[in-house]
Amino acid sequence: QIDCGIIGLPNVGKSTVFSVLTNAPVKISNFPFCTIHPNISVVRIPDPRVYQLAGIVASRETVHGKIKFVDIAGLIKGAAQGIGLGSKILNHIQTTKVLCHVVRCFDDNQTVHVFNNIDPCRDADIVNTELILFDISQCEKSICSLQKKHKLINENIEQQLFVLKKCLDYLYDGVLLRKVHFSNIERTNIEKFNFLTNKPIIYFANIDEKSVTNNTYLNKLHAFAFNNSIPLISCCAMLSSSKNRDDRFKTAMKQQKDILCDIVSVIFSVLNLRTFFTINSHMTRAWIYVVGMTALEAAKKVHSDFKKGFIRVQIIKFDDFIFYRGELGAKKAGKICYAGKDYCVKDGDILKFLFQI
Ligand code: GDP
Repeated sequence: QIDCGIIGLPNVGKSTVFSVLTNAPVKISNFPFCTIHPNISVVRIPDPRVYQLAGIVASRETVHGKIKFVDIAGLIKGAAQGIGLGSKILNHIQTTKVLCHVVRCFDDNQTVHVFNNIDPCRDADIVNTELILFDISQCEKSICSLQKKHKLINENIEQQLFVLKKCLDYLYDGVLLRKVHFSNIERTNIEKFNFLTNKPIIYFANIDEKSVTNNTYLNKLHAFAFNNSIPLISCCAMLSSSKNRDDRFKTAMKQQKDILCDIVSVIFSVLNLRTFFTINSHMTRAWIYVVGMTALEAAKKVHSDFKKGFIRVQIIKFDDFIFYRGELGAKKAGKICYAGKDYCVKDGDILKFLFQI
């Protein structure tokens, strides 16, 4: 399962975005810190290929990949030191894989901004600083506890301490850890510390319907995101209430689908994720994996017996399966192939594991 933390300053529209993405009713208020406990919701990853496959094999059940969104309270200057709801709220997103930073790019006198004016790049900088300060405190604590716990420092602890001190130096200089070049061993060593600045980030520019085109805040944020190699999605999370009920409903449905598809596609790209499928008359199922996964790892994901008794894997490409209307047709056309445990799984592969118990 993929976890995405939604962050940003108070009153920028995080809960509105969360509610659109997840279709979950959440408390949305025009005052900072409305979201005290995190809102959490798991949604299906839209992938029309699941239905196309299920239509051909007449599966009784379809299972999509899932993504969990965690909407936390707004960060403010000093959050990492406990101001506002403090570092507690940041703990909620420590185990997420990716961060979606909602940035306010709309004018609205009725909705207070904590700094009374709109400046997306300043807001992005403030949040970055809070993430850095939070990581500094986590890093210092981890160094302290490693030194205390392990009076006899072995090679493994030494490696961890080395990389933590390296992280701390960068963080003290205000550098986000995801921008630092670490060796593979160093990367493995810091992964378990779940540093926030080491997570990929996506900017979500919350614009309003009045300024969909030529939004100067959005233009500024685009330049900022581009210079920092951060993907940006822009969307109007809150729909105008001037539309009639039917129009609003239709627009809201389309909006939900579009925003979810956009964010999923960017998350797949930053986390290097792809999808393979397993099919039978009971179930058509999408499995999300990280690029580079082998057939043996895929077998383990599907069922531990498949890994234990792995013989080989049968592969049909999604396009062939659709074109030849199923496994039989693909077989007749010579579009089925077999591979061993080291086969590198590709997006859209339909896999069947041959195994012995
Ligand atoms: P959060 O504190 O960041 O979670 O923000 P909320 O989602 O609770 O929204 C705060 C206020 O901003 C609410 O009154 C929303 O209705 C309003 N809001 C959210 N998105 C938009 C938008 O795109 N345009 C306008 N004008 N108001 C918005």
